[in-house]
Amino acid sequence: MNTPTIIDGKKVSAEVQQQAADRVKKIIEKTGVTPCLVTVLVGSDPASVTYTRMKRKRCEAVGMKSMKVELPEETTTEQLLAKIKELGDDPAIHGILLQHPVPSQIDERAAFEAIPAAKDVDGVTIASFGAMAFDLPGFGCATPAGIIDLIDAYDIDCNGKHAVVIGRSPILGKPMAMMLLSRHATVTICHSRTTDLPGLVKQADIIVAAVGRPNFVQGDWVKPGAIVIDAGYNPGNIGDCDYEACAKNASMITPVPGGVGPTTIAALINQTSIGAARQLGLDLE
Ligand code: NAP
Repeated sequence: MNTPTIIDGKKVSAEVQQQAADRVKKIIEKTGVTPCLVTVLVGSDPASVTYTRMKRKRCEAVGMKSMKVELPEETTTEQLLAKIKELGDDPAIHGILLQHPVPSQIDERAAFEAIPAAKDVDGVTIASFGAMAFDLPGFGCATPAGIIDLIDAYDIDCNGKHAVVIGRSPILGKPMAMMLLSRHATVTICHSRTTDLPGLVKQADIIVAAVGRPNFVQGDWVKPGAIVIDAGYNPGNIGDCDYEACAKNASMITPVPGGVGPTTIAALINQTSIGAARQLGLDLE
């Protein structure tokens, strides 16, 4: 029977958060300034309320300050842009997280773009994507950045490997593909128009599922020995991969929950501490 290594996202996220905590301690010692992340939530979607609360709690757990801005459901794009500009201009704030998704009347892209690149610790702006894609300093999108932390923690060598990313969203699939490319993987990106998706996934050494469909990746799509990373998080704590079936062939696999989820928040917290150090003129990376 195949027994894959189960990639422990909680353990990796604790290590990444410890790095952030060490950096925060040094920032406070050297400057007297406590780094601060602000979460911006428009509306009252219960899942988003929970996510933003979790992010602020983790921030405080590493010694940073957190602030919340909550705007009503009927907020306009102009009102949101004005609020983000105000936060961007505030020197006491080092990171801005706009919780996705925003209500449909808001131009989400315009709102993301209002975040100054230096404070874009969730890596959602075009400037951050461009910097990441060109291997320049900037912040990667938190979920794929957290997946890279998992890859590093488990010494997964991407060099020359065939990585198949399922999903091409701007916050997950697309940046994930660029990050794997930077690590010298040969990357295939699949999406809803892909022909023979199972056939492509069967060729993968590394599979990243970011589809948003429960149990989408089937066990017989996984080549024996492939690494399965499941970014999916569907209602009922169900991932995008059929875990039991994929585990029969995989050499390593992330569980849901406890895989990619915890490292997403850890990456955000870590990037906030890095952003604060940069804004305060410290070299602590
Ligand atoms: P999204 O914006 O809905 O994008 C889904 C992607 O999957 C799209 O590119 C879409 O293709 C593709 N897709 C949908 N159905 C498909 C099909 N039948 N065959 C092939 N491709 C298909 O979702 P997302 O924001 O990237 O999130 C993806 C998953 O990750 C969700 O389960 C979400 O909950 C999870 N997630 C987890 C975290 C975390 O912290 N763990 C963070 C963010 C998201 P098209 O582009 O052609 O439409």
